[in-house]
Amino acid sequence: MQMIVIGAGAWGLPAAAELAERGHRVTLVDRYGPANPLSSSHGPTRIWRLADPDPAKITMTRQSLAAMERLSRIAGEPVFLRRGLVWRDSASALDAFEWALAMEGIPHLRLAADRVGSRFPGLVPDGRGAIFTSEAGPVLAEVSLRAQLLRFERAGGTLRIAHVVDVEAPVPTEAGTGDGPHRVHLAGGETLEADALVVAAGPGASALLERLGLDVPLRPHLEQVVHVADPAQPFDELPDLIDIASGDRPTLYAMTTPGVGFKLGLDAPLRDAEWGVDDDRTPDAARTALLLDYARTELGMRGAEVVDAKVCSWTDSPDGRFVIGTPLPGVTVACGDSGEGFKFSALMGLVLADLAEGVTPSVDLEPFRFDRFSGGGAGAGSGATAARASRAALAAPTSLGALAAPTSLGGTPEASA
Ligand SMILES: Cc1cc2nc3c(=O)[nH]c(=O)nc-3n(C[C@H](O)[C@H](O)[C@H](O)COP(=O)(O)OP(=O)(O)OC[C@H]3O[C@@H](n4cnc5c(N)ncnc54)[C@H](O)[C@@H]3O)c2cc1C
Repeated sequence: MQMIVIGAGAWGLPAAAELAERGHRVTLVDRYGPANPLSSSHGPTRIWRLADPDPAKITMTRQSLAAMERLSRIAGEPVFLRRGLVWRDSASALDAFEWALAMEGIPHLRLAADRVGSRFPGLVPDGRGAIFTSEAGPVLAEVSLRAQLLRFERAGGTLRIAHVVDVEAPVPTEAGTGDGPHRVHLAGGETLEADALVVAAGPGASALLERLGLDVPLRPHLEQVVHVADPAQPFDELPDLIDIASGDRPTLYAMTTPGVGFKLGLDAPLRDAEWGVDDDRTPDAARTALLLDYARTELGMRGAEVVDAKVCSWTDSPDGRFVIGTPLPGVTVACGDSGEGFKFSALMGLVLADLAEGVTPSVDLEPFRFDRFSGGGAGAGSGATAARASRAALAAPTSLGALAAPTSLGGTPEASA
């Protein structure tokens, strides 16, 4: 089949690689290219962790670990590391979390408030205890995406650096996907055609889905991360840290980026982002100073200095769960990464490729259903929605809608997480 994947980030690129390896003719379209600095997927590391208050994500992480192991074998080097995780919170929250971990059979250790430093050397006690689990660490994001790009290229996929300004899906019939091809309109006037589409456009998803008549309440925004390093004190072996909000401080997440330093971020948006309009990725100096101060005073990294500060986009869904499905025949969508999507990147390649082929994936996608924000209504694949979609697209096939004209990467501030 001829497939078009829109978006070459942590979700679209693996899907394109998997589809190409399965023998499909795949065109991967991205406005700026794989893991570009304006995408959500740029940067060297992300956290993976089995421990999660959401059982749906635990199940998926287990499957993702297997997928990352496979990708590591293909890459010839690890795409993730096991360093463990320290999760600090109030006693009552830890009780509930511990119960959830026990139910899921996730090995863990409860640390008393004055023992948090036993698993995270330097972490200054603040009266709250923590949970340590060994099943966590950094995902090596760049290594992972490089391996996926190699797979894609070796399998003969075609990469197009282009801005998609409109998409069209044929009106479905009772019997099948409807007459005619799916169409992807590029800035500049070119139109690509395919038997099926995968839309994995990160913060750019809403605008494209709108063109298909699909309404998903997503909120893209910008976050900032900072790497700190201290030549006298390597941080490569430290576990991940999630220090849940305390006092005025929002939740803090942190992980090692081996060879670079320790990466910290606050779970607090810098500002909302509108894809294609808000391309400014200038770091906020006050946020940088706050994170450095936290590293020095709370993590015992007294000699730490800032190595880099990057601003990166992510896209929240209303309930913090992903939005994945086939809302129209031949149209597979994955969006609403909610700042947690990278640990599922390798798995997502398999899931999206299965969906694009019309095969039921091994992952239970019920919690991530596409139509859950529309009161369980017609959204997913109904003829009415598709017809509306197609009509909307045909009525204004070259309209930019909410999409802005493409801008060149040249001169764009370096970005990301
Ligand atoms: C600061 C920060 C910290 C994070 N921490 C973690 C973590 O610890 N653990 C974790 O698992 N995840 C984490 N994440 C989230 C993770 O990085 C994302 O979930 C993941 O990268 C999402 O990938 P994506 O492919 O959906 O989106 P993206 O990477 O944004 O890819 C979408 C692509 O689509 C392209 N595109 C969009 N619109 C168009 C268009 N109209 N035409 C052509 N191309 C288009 C873009 O150029 C982009 O390359 C974090 C994210 C940030 C920003």
